[in-house]
Amino acid sequence: MTEFTLDTITALAKRRGFVYQTSEIYGGLASSYDYGPLGTELLRNIKNKWWQEMIREKADMIGLDSQILLHPQTWVASGHVDSFTDPLVEDKVTHKRYRADHLIETWLAKQKETSALVVEELTVDEMGAFIAENKVLSPDGNPVTEPKEFNILFETAVGAIEGAKSKLYLRGETAQGIFTNFRQVLDSTRVKLPFGIGQIGKSFRNEITTGQFVFRTLEFEQAEIEYFFDPEQAGWQTLFAEWQQRMWEFVVNTLGVREENLRWRRHSDKERSHYSRETYDLDYRFPFGFKELWGVAYRTDYDLQQHIQHAGAKLNYKDPFTGKQFVPHVIEPAVGINRLFLMLLCDAYWQDAENKRTVLRFKPELAPYKTAVFPLLRNKPELVQKAQAVYQLVAPHHTTTWDDRGNIGKRYYYQDEIGTPFCITIDFETLETNTVTVRHRDTTAQDRVNVDQLLSYLQNQLNLT
Ligand code: ATP
Repeated sequence: MTEFTLDTITALAKRRGFVYQTSEIYGGLASSYDYGPLGTELLRNIKNKWWQEMIREKADMIGLDSQILLHPQTWVASGHVDSFTDPLVEDKVTHKRYRADHLIETWLAKQKETSALVVEELTVDEMGAFIAENKVLSPDGNPVTEPKEFNILFETAVGAIEGAKSKLYLRGETAQGIFTNFRQVLDSTRVKLPFGIGQIGKSFRNEITTGQFVFRTLEFEQAEIEYFFDPEQAGWQTLFAEWQQRMWEFVVNTLGVREENLRWRRHSDKERSHYSRETYDLDYRFPFGFKELWGVAYRTDYDLQQHIQHAGAKLNYKDPFTGKQFVPHVIEPAVGINRLFLMLLCDAYWQDAENKRTVLRFKPELAPYKTAVFPLLRNKPELVQKAQAVYQLVAPHHTTTWDDRGNIGKRYYYQDEIGTPFCITIDFETLETNTVTVRHRDTTAQDRVNVDQLLSYLQNQLNLT
């Protein structure tokens, strides 16, 4: 296994156009990143895979696209206005802010003996006591203030007249848009329980802790599902286990991630939110340790009941066969697309110690570019013309890129670093025999393929549809 740090991945991501610092020309914006040409393709591939597998291929799943700005009462009902908080401490000297739980985690990691303490289970008061007792300091070595709850919901305002603007929130999760549309989905479609509604979209959190690249950002993309069921009909344990299985299979089979880098972590009774009857995190081994990638929670009928109370809405379900009326329960698998993205960069990273080849070994279907087309020499019009024809041949079928700069070795090196599985070179032999060289990223093996068979050859290799 190749050893690397998060800095290695961050540097590669920037160097090759996967991720850029947001507003870099203005000095950047903390915990905010833009996705460059390569990153945009990779993000899109992840989202398409998720949508295809979770929504389109399942008869019991439908999609939704709700707004970032919802009626503000939504967030009162959901509990976010009151308790969507993180424990904040401030460095008494520099006034920099940190998450108390993260400082304690770092402190524990530095101790010689491993502790059985589960930081996620501590209340804010317990964190305060721990910090005082153990003299936990800030990363700059200064004492910190008592932890206090800090609400991470972003506020904004709507309305043209100063002073008469109404407060709104940028959504802290996409899930609430699913609950608030529940009635409309029931009334406008022919769904019957059990069924799920999924959506992908931006969420916003005023995160205290910065760093860790795209793992934790102010603005990020979530893919969330609310799976509704009748608790008297379907055993929640069975459904929960099925969702865990689907999540695992998506990461391992669809995204091609190594199983040894994954684990399940069950939330203890103390850690779990009061409305959740069961919560598991699917953790990935990032360079900074095992961290949550994807959570799954059995949220009972909590959210629908809250909206029934606050909106006075009828969010009950009437069984079309028996006439029974009740409020369904939900299981919620929620993942951050950007965390899947970071996981893929880490899992695909590979370096060959001997010839210093750096390769992103993405599954071919996920690679930003599936092929790269090279004319052997830039100044030979007959080669360039033929290469352009090959580019035109493959471009409608999969993402491809053109490169005629530098020597072939450098071009291979560049494509390896961005994970392109196949490089197609048009050389003098091509002009005589109508064959091209196809070079494989992982093995560096080369095949000679007739241009007439190139598409079907690539189709087989890439397993693309
Ligand atoms: P964490 O404990 O890491 O803050 P969370 O438990 O608050 O995450 P959820 O509210 O369960 O996260 O959100 C579902 C998913 O959204 C997470 O599993 C994660 O993949 C993603 N996510 C949450 N917060 C962020 C963030 N600030 N940046 C990027 N992704 C995030």
